[in-house]
Parts: sequence; structure tokens; C-alpha cells
Amino acid sequence: MAELGKQGRPVDEVIAELTDKRANDVKWSDGKTFGMVYDGGPSVHEVAEQAARLYLHENALNTQAFPSLAAIQREVVGWTSSLLHGDLLEEGAASGFLTSGGTESILCGVLAARERGTTERGVTEPEMVVAETAHAAFHKAAHNFGLKIRVAAVRNDYTADVDAMAALVNDNTVLVVGSAPQYPQGVQDDIAAIAQLAMSVDANCHVDACMGGFVLPFAERLGRDVQPWDFRVPGVTTISADIHKLGYAPKGVSVILHRSKQSRQYQTFVFDGWLGGFYASPNMQGTRSGLPMACAWAVMQHLGIDGYVDLTRQTMINADRMRAGIMGIDGIRVLGDGQFHLIAMAAEPDSGIDVFALGDALMKRGWYHDRQAPPDNLHSTVSNTNTGVIDDYLTDLETCVAEIRGTTTDDRSTTYATLE
Ligand SMILES: *Cc1c(COP(=O)(O)O)cnc(C)c1O
Repeated sequence: MAELGKQGRPVDEVIAELTDKRANDVKWSDGKTFGMVYDGGPSVHEVAEQAARLYLHENALNTQAFPSLAAIQREVVGWTSSLLHGDLLEEGAASGFLTSGGTESILCGVLAARERGTTERGVTEPEMVVAETAHAAFHKAAHNFGLKIRVAAVRNDYTADVDAMAALVNDNTVLVVGSAPQYPQGVQDDIAAIAQLAMSVDANCHVDACMGGFVLPFAERLGRDVQPWDFRVPGVTTISADIHKLGYAPKGVSVILHRSKQSRQYQTFVFDGWLGGFYASPNMQGTRSGLPMACAWAVMQHLGIDGYVDLTRQTMINADRMRAGIMGIDGIRVLGDGQFHLIAMAAEPDSGIDVFALGDALMKRGWYHDRQAPPDNLHSTVSNTNTGVIDDYLTDLETCVAEIRGTTTDDRSTTYATLE
């Protein structure tokens, strides 16, 4: 076990060692990583880095001490709400909070649904209904907050089977979940039908737009066919949208939106039964860095709607090119009919191709995908990060497919997250 040195080290030396430590990390800045880091370009880095410097030390735990962070949160949430048509609601503008990421936004949405169900409907054994493509964060929320989670199989096209979900809904259901789009294959669920199902039992409907929240509004402006999914859909209660994905802010910031202030109050914890005074906490964190919040504010202000539309146009060009290229190579295919920026690449049955071996061969050439199963496939979150490299990618892909055909790898793991 390593011990912290008794004597401190000079700044230069510390930073030099940190820099060296990064040697084996993925090199996202060369555009060859499909996910994890989303690169909005040099001026987006610049504005985020300067904002980070200003807010590195600030604490959003107490926004009375830091009123600027209250304003930042209010403004970023308000902009996101209007992008998702929360400003058109009869109930008044949709409201919400910033969180540290998609998982935390989902935790907040599930908690609010449970609290509303127990408070307004007297539900004592709360349940939620999801499709098997719903993000793992919903299972984490069910585990953490003591809800029973009922999981419906998806249709052949990987969209949620709303009839199968309807069979799982009952008097204990406090939440029904849809995704726009879902992560594994990037297809969008029928949100209107899912919200209708939720309303039929007076449950909340959460739309997981962690991936789509900062893509679909701009894809719609580009004239792409986007099925209704946001607050324009009756019955949608809460939405999660990650600014740290295709919102192009650095890590640590997402939005949870509620259709009404009344819904929002169910996620806030307030307490005064200790010796530290009145304590109100809107999300899962206590002490909370102002840095990601300020970066989100700065990046959104810098890009504006036009900047996001341009980044989305480029993202769609990249994704459409990649999908078409994959479909043109014998033996591999794209799972589902994803229309947006997520691509799941699998082998054709009996093609003699092991996609995990393919993933290894691509990795040797510097291309990084996440692995998923079942069925075995390589996942890509395409973004502006990958601009200018797609043709090179497809050339390497074709070479790698030829190279690995008939071979397999023993490593079948699909680890998506950190275990230690
Ligand atoms: C990324 C993602 C999440 C989880 O968000 P984190 O920011 O990783 O916590 C949830 N749902 C979908 C669809 C996602 O893409």
C-alpha cells in the first residue's frame, strides 16, 4: 500500500508526473474514440477552461453564499427547459436542477416519482416499469431507493414494447420510463404511448434524454424526423438531459427537469433535526463544485442555438456516413434502425466474425469502442469529436474485418464502468 509522502513536492514536478500518468489513456483529441469525451472544438475548450478557472474553488452547496451559482443553475435549467418546450406548459415553465450527470438526474427522477406515489397515492410498495434497454442507472435507482423494477423485453427493432410494459403496470406503479434515444442501440421509444400508459395509472413518466437532450431539439431544427418526446407530450413528468455529453460541456453536469414545481419539490430533501441548522438539498450531493455548472453556462452561451445546430449537423453527417459504411461491409451490420448518433455494430450470423476480436483489431489501430452484449456488439457514440476521421475509420474497419474473419478472442467481458 502506497503512503503519501511526508514531504510535499514542487508544483512543476507534481504536474509533470500527472502529465506522464496520462500516457496510456485514450487519445480522444485525435477523434478516434467513439464516446466518453465530446469535443465541441477549440473555442468550446477555451471558454470551458476559462470558466473552470473562475469557478474551480466555488461551492454550490449554499447558493446564498454564492448567488452567482444560483443564477447559473436557474439560467441553464431555464434554457434547457425552453429547448424541451417546458416553457409552453399551462402549468407554467418546467423547472429543475443541475446535477453531476445522467445517473444523478435519473436518481432524482426516480426518487421524485416514489415520493409523489407515496404522498399523493398512498403507495407503500412502489414499482417502476422499464424496457430492458433502459439505462442501468434506473436499476441503480431501484436498488438505492427500494423500488421494485419490472423489466419488459423490447421489440425486434429494439424499441420499447409498450404492450409488454402495459402488462407490468399495476396499482403500485409510480414510474414508467422511456428513452429518447436509448443508449444500447440508439433507437427512440414511443414516448407518447409510454406517457399515456403512465397517466392511465397516475404514475410519473420519466424520459431519459441523457443522450438525446442536446441532439434531438437541433436535429428537429435540421428537418430530421423526430418523433414527439419532450414536454409537448402529455404525461411526461420528468426529463434527464446531459450537458456533459452532446451539450459539449466538460464532465460533471446534467439537467433534471420537472413538468411542475410541485413535482420538483418531491426530489428535494429538507431537514432541521440536527445541530447544524436548516438543511435543504435538491439532489444527491452535499458540497457541490461550481466548476461544472459554470462550464455548462459558458459553453451554452458560447454556442447558442446556432452553434448546437452546426455541431448536430456535423454529428449527423458523421453518424450517417458511418452507418452507411458499416452496412456496406460484408459480414457486419448495425443493430436497430437508429436515426441519431448512436451505433451498435454486430456480426451477421454465420459470418465467422467475432466483433470483440474486431474491436481488439480496431483498438490496435487506435479506434476505441465500448463493448456490449447481448448480442455481442461494439457501441459508438458519434459526435463532432469524430469529424474528419470517418473515412479513415471505414478503411481500417474493412481491413480489420478481413484480418479477423475466422478468429475469436477469449475475452468476452463487456465492462462498462469502474470496479475499483
Ligand atoms: C450516459 C447515459 C446515462 C447515464 O449518464 P451518466 O452521465 O453516465 O451518469 C443514462 N441514460 C442514457 C441514455 C445515457 O446515455
